Amino acid sequence: MRILAVDLGGTHATCAMVEDRSIVACETVNLPDSASLRTALKAIEEPLRKLRQIGTAEAIGFGFCGLVDSNGARIASTNGKFTDGPEIDLSRWAMEEFGLHLRLENDARLALLGERHAGAAQDETDVVLFTLGTGIGGVAMMDGRLLHGKHGQAGVLGGHVPINFRGRRCTCGGIGCAESEASGWALPIVAQSWPGFSTSSLAAKKLDFETLFHCANSGDTVACAIADHCLHALGATAVAAIHAFDPDLLIFGGGVMKSADAVLPFLQDYVRENAWTPWGTVRVRAAQLGNQAALLGVVPLFEQESLFVR
Ligand SMILES: [Zn+2]
Repeated sequence: MRILAVDLGGTHATCAMVEDRSIVACETVNLPDSASLRTALKAIEEPLRKLRQIGTAEAIGFGFCGLVDSNGARIASTNGKFTDGPEIDLSRWAMEEFGLHLRLENDARLALLGERHAGAAQDETDVVLFTLGTGIGGVAMMDGRLLHGKHGQAGVLGGHVPINFRGRRCTCGGIGCAESEASGWALPIVAQSWPGFSTSSLAAKKLDFETLFHCANSGDTVACAIADHCLHALGATAVAAIHAFDPDLLIFGGGVMKSADAVLPFLQDYVRENAWTPWGTVRVRAAQLGNQAALLGVVPLFEQESLFVR
């Protein structure tokens, strides 16, 4: 079964023709910051038509960086981008433009489906995937099925677990979310308010996690303290997910994993020491598929009708 896959992120859209465990062809389109969903759809129509010339596609699987309603048919809510999303009938767009059925899913859920189908979670049934990047994506599968919940929000807001009730305001409107303590967007804010930041080697650099861990490894005490803060925030987030979803396995992907040598051993130890799991220890592992995970996730999205817990 060949499927056209769309992974619509904040800054770009990736379109692909996928078949089983492989991406047959792929094209990425950059989107302006101000892009509406309507303009994004216009921008991907041509790449999708080109991909279609490769062979017959049976459907379109669409990953979206926001909340999707519990039927997987409409965008329910967005976080700052594509604010016209809830008004748009994507199924109708797919049928009118391509004559194909479309299924919509949150991009993090699709990434977990992809990792289970062809990556780090093969043969696993109870998994939480965290994507550590500009934001923190966290998504859960229990007993081989993605969680959805009544409003489509279950198990998909792992980055918005409040871990500091005295913390700063998050982009979601909450306070002290994991994302507001240890994500790519929060790192400059956390660092610049850290005591002694102006004396740190970080002050002269573009702040990202690779730089943070590099400076920490070089012995910069402020960088060490901030890295320690971020790692503990991620550890608390991981334990919250374990207590909520009872997984066997946690998978971590995203840009922060460029520093996997620093992040993964810490998280494995943190989970071993702080999660209440009398049956054993939840395993911690790196994601394998990177940006391809959500694209490959459209295959099981169509193949397994009984995949979802409502
Ligand atoms: Zn939040």
